[in-house]
Amino acid sequence: MAHSFHGGVHPDYCKAPEVPVTVIKPPPQVVIPMIQHIGAPNRPLVQKGEKVTMGQKIGENPAPVSAPVHASVSGTVVAVEPRPHPLGDMVMSVVIENDYLDTPCTELAPMTPEQLREPEAILERIREAGVVGMGGAMFPTSFKIRGGIGKVDKLIINGAECEPYLNGDHLTMLAHPEELLKGIELVRIAGGLDKAYYGIEKNKQDAIDLLNSFHPEQYGVEIVPEEVKYPQGAEKMQVKAITGREVKPGGIPSGVGANVVSTRTCFAVYQACYIGKPVIQRIVTVAGSAMKAPVNALTRVGTPFGYLAEQCGGFVKRPRKIVLGGPMMGICATSFDAPNIKGTAGVLFFTEKEDKNIEEPSCIRCGKCLTVCPMHLEPVFMYMYYSKGDYENMAKYHITDCFECGSCAYNCPARMPLTHAFKTAKLMFQAKAANEKARAEAAARREESAG
Ligand code: SF4
Ligand code: SF4
Repeated sequence: MAHSFHGGVHPDYCKAPEVPVTVIKPPPQVVIPMIQHIGAPNRPLVQKGEKVTMGQKIGENPAPVSAPVHASVSGTVVAVEPRPHPLGDMVMSVVIENDYLDTPCTELAPMTPEQLREPEAILERIREAGVVGMGGAMFPTSFKIRGGIGKVDKLIINGAECEPYLNGDHLTMLAHPEELLKGIELVRIAGGLDKAYYGIEKNKQDAIDLLNSFHPEQYGVEIVPEEVKYPQGAEKMQVKAITGREVKPGGIPSGVGANVVSTRTCFAVYQACYIGKPVIQRIVTVAGSAMKAPVNALTRVGTPFGYLAEQCGGFVKRPRKIVLGGPMMGICATSFDAPNIKGTAGVLFFTEKEDKNIEEPSCIRCGKCLTVCPMHLEPVFMYMYYSKGDYENMAKYHITDCFECGSCAYNCPARMPLTHAFKTAKLMFQAKAANEKARAEAAARREESAG
């Protein structure tokens, strides 16, 4: 079976796999936002002036879809207030002055061998340690696994890392193969499954060989080499490549019996269960033409981007754009003061060299965008109807099925802002639906009071 999918592109990957992981000195102050997951925001558990230990839980929410946050350094809480968040806006955060002692918190002990075989104990630990989708999605992992029990028969571990620049997952595979396999085994046990499929693009052959040398079958894992093509790492593409199943537009992998968990998430699960370490640290790829050199930095969660850049060698040129994640699907950050969070796989500092936007682009009807959409969409027509504000035809061309992978925009010689347009169009549809709902509710209330 060809482990691949329809469409996709082959961007310049700009990876630097030979770059070793650099351990970054923790900053004098860490900023820990209460939102680092999809779901209910956490409430701070500490107050200004309190002493905290490294790994201490400092924010939580009892709602099922949530994940607690922990202090990434030991020290003193100097503020509990809204601070710039990497995804925009101001978000309630706990600011800790680092005492540079790294006094550990002993709340989470390593699990016993018996507990490591017990699905409920593993799920509880994954939640307590604040593990979320660390590929960027930040969905609470325990909730995701629990939701799949009895419905999901295929567990897929995402090792594609297909976005240009990013290679923290690749380095994790090379540095911690056994720990990674143990983490995958725990996710598999927690989900009640006999086998996990680890999809890795063939451009990481050294990692594939290394993982295979550790006999993955003894952990219930099969390594599946995949074609090198963007966006292989998108969940829907992983499901298609490994199982042949199509996740319908608007659907999620569990709808076709599959769950997809990222490489870094599995490593965090290993650390949570075997070591008793919550998510307070992660590898972040720091790159882009504004940087002196690309660096894979082992950072504490809560490290401000400005400090991170400085510790990674600094700028050769003032960046024009900060992109979080990869250049294809990443989002722009607006502040150097915002900190890295659990889902920050990369921080790219770009100058005008990478800023390819042009004024008043014009479609040349070449059709190149039609050949690459993994969702079989027709970007050229979607854009045309978006420009006219024609909702009927935007819907007819399934604009809301776009998952913003950026392949069409990448392939467009006229540099049409296709992905940006589709992102905006989806927001327009959401706003329209909300307005219609509000109007219908108001009409129903009027009818009720009249009757
Ligand atoms: S951005 Fe949307 S329309 Fe363009 S290729 Fe990706 S899924 Fe298709
Ligand atoms: S690739 Fe760009 S220029 Fe070509 S048809 Fe599509 S939108 Fe137009």
